[in-house]
Amino acid sequence: MPNGQTHALINLSVLTVVASSYLSTPTIQGTLGLNALWACGGFLCGTLLVTPDLDLNSPTLARKAWGPLGFIWIPYARLSRHRGMSHSYILGPLIRAAYITPLLYGALMLSNLSFTTLNVAYALAGYYLSQWLHSAADRIPLHHDLACLTAQHK
Ligand SMILES: [Zn+2]
Repeated sequence: MPNGQTHALINLSVLTVVASSYLSTPTIQGTLGLNALWACGGFLCGTLLVTPDLDLNSPTLARKAWGPLGFIWIPYARLSRHRGMSHSYILGPLIRAAYITPLLYGALMLSNLSFTTLNVAYALAGYYLSQWLHSAADRIPLHHDLACLTAQHK
């Protein structure tokens, strides 16, 4: 099972490939530009801030990324069994999204950022993709983390 850094590396690699492909396709450039940014934002949020591993009681990479607000995930971690419902493909991401909705909504209101329902749908799609990549990677029986592999080659 990958650690937090490996999960981030997997997700950011996929984002890089997908974004590069998108940007190099002239027929769709500009037509979905803003929504693509919302999808990227949702994906990055799901990769770096709101990950399935927030169900751990230890300070995970994602919880550390919250800085002083990391404590908000303590009740979630206490109520979730690691790799239980939190790592399901539909309900786990939905529960985490609902958990932070008040905070996220407040931040969006304070930012004065205008958005549409379609923008939110794209952000959710990006967020869900990041969660699915995480859960899928957790199901791959890895014998070594990337960190172990790089350590062996030194
Ligand atoms: Zn996990």
